[in-house]
Amino acid sequence: MHRLYEYGDIAVFWDSEKCRHAKMCVTGSPKTFDIQRRPWIDLTKAPTMEIWQAIEKCPTKALTCVYTHEATIELDLNNCRSVAYISGKQVGECDFRRTEDGWAIYHTEVLPEYEGKSIAKRLVYRLLEAAEKEGMKVIPVCSYAAKVLSGK
Ligand code: SF4
Repeated sequence: MHRLYEYGDIAVFWDSEKCRHAKMCVTGSPKTFDIQRRPWIDLTKAPTMEIWQAIEKCPTKALTCVYTHEATIELDLNNCRSVAYISGKQVGECDFRRTEDGWAIYHTEVLPEYEGKSIAKRLVYRLLEAAEKEGMKVIPVCSYAAKVLSGK
């Protein structure tokens, strides 16, 4: 399971397959990470620095985080894509095709001047999360999506 949590200046990725429930995150920021709650991560409950430091203690990298750099990620399922915006300007998108076997992600792109801000990873994660919630398999045709899906 892949989940993307975003609030304020921070975006948090969670890959459940890597989670070994060492609970370092819970110890580091108990109000943010509560395994009894759904969703179990709530970024509104603590300052960014506390959350960041708790995530750095995750021993398996099931949790990772980045700054949002004022980019917002939106799902546009009618057009089979996720889209990144900064101040209303589209700066990236990730596209998929609906196939009999699942969602085939075939294109991920961020404008060159906005690369290096993990926007592409957020775009892919937003689609992975949406597909999983719909019970759809993801087929990573694009090499970047394949890299994200493999957890590298
Ligand atoms: S610290 Fe990492 S491995 Fe441990 S419970 Fe939290 S997310 Fe899972």
